Amino acid sequence: MQRALVTGAASGIGRAIAARLEADSAAVLAVDLEPDPDGPGEPFEADLTTREGNRAAVDTAIERFGGLDGVVANAGIQHVAPVEEFPEDKWDQLIALLLTSPFLLAKYAWGALREAEDARFIVIASAHAVVASPFKAGYVAAKHGVLGLVKTLALEGADDGVLTSAVCPGFVRTPLVEAQVADQARTHGVPEERVLEDVILAPHAVKRLIEPEEVAEVVAFMGGPGGRSFSGAAVPMDLGWSAR
Ligand code: NAD
Repeated sequence: MQRALVTGAASGIGRAIAARLEADSAAVLAVDLEPDPDGPGEPFEADLTTREGNRAAVDTAIERFGGLDGVVANAGIQHVAPVEEFPEDKWDQLIALLLTSPFLLAKYAWGALREAEDARFIVIASAHAVVASPFKAGYVAAKHGVLGLVKTLALEGADDGVLTSAVCPGFVRTPLVEAQVADQARTHGVPEERVLEDVILAPHAVKRLIEPEEVAEVVAFMGGPGGRSFSGAAVPMDLGWSAR
């Protein structure tokens, strides 16, 4: 990937991916709702829950870099609540960001990706794309849905040299995980200091959080020559979670 667009690039996993691709000498458009001018890549502000935001991000990357060979659809949010209390606007926001944004990015970038030599469309999905947890209806539904999109794009891109895959991490040490501790404590009825061990790490066979740089390493591999035989794949990196 020499000309890449990375979403959610100001924090956590996206930031590590943007930094890693840049270190591998790629030009990176670092798209975020709150871009960090001091972060990796070229900061670009867009609200990816809107069609205009996705369109502007893709058009800007193509214009600035003269084309595009990689898209990493990573931006995400979480909301933890039992289904009866799950706010309907949160459901809409989760679907818009985790499912509709990757679709729009693909739709708008597809022409440029088809023209590139060796293009990749990589979605940062989750172990929650293949297994569920309670109180995460919107997130789990959107992540399962995006795997369907990934498989479809893999078939459509096969003859045009566009490889599409999903990376499916377990719990990664980022603000998204830190922000859910209070809600996890409330919904599971455990004290906040027990949440990491009793709730978050409970499904991991190996009891540790994954570091954002470990996800970036997998994306760099998937986006490079070593990733040439992956398409339509959901690549687990979940410390044994989905082995259960
Ligand atoms: P994070 O909260 O650290 O970063 C998410 C970034 O997305 C933020 O910079 C935020 O500003 C941006 N963002 C949020 N809403 C946006 C919008 N409407 N438009 C543009 N940007 C927006 O989160 P993270 O943990 O790094 O998560 C990144 C991705 O990895 C998400 O898709 C998440 O579902 C997935 N993931 C995370 C974990 C984990 O344990 N942290 C595990 C598996 C998968």
